[in-house]
Amino acid sequence: MSIEQKRFHTGLPENLTDRFANRALGMKASEIRSLFAVASRPDIVSLAGGMPNLTALPMEVMAEVVNKLIQDNGAEALQYGSGQGHPKLREQICDVMALEGISAHPDDVIVTTGSQQALDLITRIFIDPGDVILVEAPSYVGALGTFKQYQAQVVHVEMDQNGLIPQALRNAISQIKKSGRKIKFIYLIPNYQNPAGVLLSADRRTEILEICHSEQIFVVEDNPYGLLGFDRPSPNAMRAEDSENVIYLGTFSKTIAPGFRVGWALVPQSLKEKLVIASESSILCPSNFSQLSISSYLSDQPWRAQIASFTKLYKVRKDAMLESLEKYFPKGTSWTKPEGGFYVWITLPPEIDTNALMPKAIVAKVAYVPGTAFYADGFGTWSMRLSYCYPTPERIKEGVKSLGAVITEEMERRQLI
Ligand code: PMP
Repeated sequence: MSIEQKRFHTGLPENLTDRFANRALGMKASEIRSLFAVASRPDIVSLAGGMPNLTALPMEVMAEVVNKLIQDNGAEALQYGSGQGHPKLREQICDVMALEGISAHPDDVIVTTGSQQALDLITRIFIDPGDVILVEAPSYVGALGTFKQYQAQVVHVEMDQNGLIPQALRNAISQIKKSGRKIKFIYLIPNYQNPAGVLLSADRRTEILEICHSEQIFVVEDNPYGLLGFDRPSPNAMRAEDSENVIYLGTFSKTIAPGFRVGWALVPQSLKEKLVIASESSILCPSNFSQLSISSYLSDQPWRAQIASFTKLYKVRKDAMLESLEKYFPKGTSWTKPEGGFYVWITLPPEIDTNALMPKAIVAKVAYVPGTAFYADGFGTWSMRLSYCYPTPERIKEGVKSLGAVITEEMERRQLI
C-alpha cells in the first residue's frame, strides 16, 4: 500500500488546517532551518549558521569527564532529578554569573534545556494572544519563532551601533499604550547581539532599566555571548543592576558545548514557582546527565582558560571577515564591527533584496541569512547576517570574496555603482 493510500485509510484529511490549534497555524520552519540543507553542502562556504566552533574543545578531556561521571556517580547521573535543576550546578551557575557582576542565590536559578527552553517558558507564563513583546530591530530568530507560537505581537525598537536606543523605546511604549495594548516584556540581547553583533553601552543599560522599571515592563536579558568579548569584558549584566525587574537567561552552549543543552533562567523570586511548574510540565526535569557533566567540568577543568581559547579562535575569524569585507564589498554597503560573539550585520542599498539574491549567492557557493529572518514584520529585505564562528579564516575570506562579487554585480546591474 502506498503512503498516500495508507493516509486515506487512516481517514486523515489532506488538509489539517481545521484540526490544528490556532497557535500551530503560525508554526513555520525558520528561514535559517530551510537554509541549512543547502548551506551544509561541503562545496558551499556557509556564513549562515551560528554553530559554536568545537574545534577548540579538547574532546579527550570531555570524554574523561563523562566517563568519570558515569563510573563514580552513574546512578544519580542517569536518574530523574529536580525540576528546578541540580543544586550543585545552580551554585556553580551563580559563580559563572558573578563574572558579569551578578550577585545571585542558587534558589533563584532554574536550569533549562538550553536557554531556548527558558524563552519558551517565559513566553508561556506571560503571553496571551495579542500581548506585546518589545524586541530589538533586528532580533534573534529563535526568540521570534517562540513569540509567534504564543501569538504575541512583536514590536521592534530601533537600535544603532551602541544597541537599543532609549528614546526609541520611550516612543514605542507611548504609542503602544495609546493603542490600548499591553506590553508584557522587552527581550534584549545586550552583548554581541544576534544578529547585529553590537554591544549595548553601559549608560544605555541603566537608562533602559529605568524606563522599564517605571513602566512596569519586565526586561528579559538573553546573554549567550557575554563571556565571548574579544579584547575586554562586556559591561556588567543588566541583572547586576536590577534584581527585581530583570529575568536573566544564560547558557553553556557557547562557553562549553551546545550538545549538553544546559541553560538557565535567573528570575525574580515572585516568578520562580510558575516557571518551575511550567518547566516540569514540559520536560519533568532537565537532564541530570548533562547537568552533572557540566558540573564536573566546571569543578575539575580550567573552564575560564577554555573560554579564552574559544574567544581567541573567534577573534581570528572575526578579523578575517572584517578584513575581507573591507577588501571585497562594494561602496554603498556597510557593516557592524563586533567586539565579541559570532555575527556581523550587513546593510546594502534598499534596492537590493537579500532573499532574491540568495540563489545567486548559492551559485557562487556562499550562504548567508537574509535580514527578514530577524524581523517579525517583513522588514530587513536589504540586510543580511554573516557569521564567522564556524568556517576557517581561509574559507571566510573565500566566502566573503564570492559574496562581494555577487553583490557588486547586482549593484552594477541596478546602476547603483
Ligand atoms: N538566544 C540567543 C540570542 C541565541 O543566539 C541562541 C542560540 N543561537 C539561544 C538563545 C539559544 O541557545 P541554547 O538553547 O543553545 O542555550
